[in-house]
Amino acid sequence: MISGDNKFIQEAIKQAKKSFIKGEVPVGSLIVRDGKIIARAHNMVESANDATAHAEILAIRKASKKLRNWRLVDTVLYSTVQPCRMCVQAIRQARIPEVVFGCRSPVQGNAGEIAGDTPTINPARAEGHRDECSRLMKDFFKGARKRKADITENRCRGGELKMGCGKKHGKKKKAKK
Ligand SMILES: [Zn+2]
Repeated sequence: MISGDNKFIQEAIKQAKKSFIKGEVPVGSLIVRDGKIIARAHNMVESANDATAHAEILAIRKASKKLRNWRLVDTVLYSTVQPCRMCVQAIRQARIPEVVFGCRSPVQGNAGEIAGDTPTINPARAEGHRDECSRLMKDFFKGARKRKADITENRCRGGELKMGCGKKHGKKKKAKK
């Protein structure tokens, strides 16, 4: 871990928590240049109805706008989760030389792993925050599965959409007065 990593990854975690609250997959990113944060973003796929609205992509857009330059040389991208393939490609296109991330993605495993040496991926630099980043993701997906189960159950019971969940739900007995 080098100076500032701690502060920056914590700031990225704050962004990830914003996603979590909005019901988005909790990923937060930021871009740092000369020790200063020039862009912060969190995943907004659901709220923007945009499959490409990953935290990393949004951070790249903001940083490029701020610097009025699509080449983000001399920057470091911090992300709470290992960037996916789409984002790694965008990071490459934006010429970002270095990436620091908190944890590997529990959904895509090593899908973001890339061959070659650009950008330099540094999971070790945020190691101290790995558990926190990964807990956020795990809690989110645990909650998402529960929400999905609740929806299926309600539909089935309500019969509104005539979609059965395959289970038999016994009618609740009315309490005797
Ligand atoms: Zn991505």
